[in-house]
Amino acid sequence: MKAEMYTDNTALQAAEFTQILKTNKLKITQPRLRVLETISTKTAAISQPELEKILGAEIDRVTLYRILASFEEKGILHKVFDLNGTATYALCSTKCTEHHHHDQHVHFICSVCNSVFCLDETAAPKISLPHGFTLHSIAVNAVGLCNDCKEK
Ligand SMILES: [Zn+2]
Ligand SMILES: [Zn+2]
Ligand SMILES: [Zn+2]
Repeated sequence: MKAEMYTDNTALQAAEFTQILKTNKLKITQPRLRVLETISTKTAAISQPELEKILGAEIDRVTLYRILASFEEKGILHKVFDLNGTATYALCSTKCTEHHHHDQHVHFICSVCNSVFCLDETAAPKISLPHGFTLHSIAVNAVGLCNDCKEK
């Protein structure tokens, strides 16, 4: 395993992650903290296979799967599908609670590297539904080139 680079505010972040788990009444475990830490260091959303590559030596696949599922249920992470239909995970806004996600923002997906970015400032459009329909979620994607892919 490659040594991770830590910045000066690692301690502060660790405290924040502990708080997130406490707020959501999840037991504070090393694997849960590691998943939060790993996701928070990424600017793009991250898929389970990518997380396995980074954390595979520490966290087995089943545990990782359960952590992601519970984080999604608790409103800690939201799931976004990339252009291949692979689920990627991004940290939620603090407004999200158990079973109630409020991440109704547009996502940007790079057509070259398939990275998914939350556009927190761009709200998804209001949807007027036919009578009797119920809305569960809105997925609006903007597709283009990310900064990394544009430079090449
Ligand atoms: Zn959410
Ligand atoms: Zn890209
Ligand atoms: Zn998002």
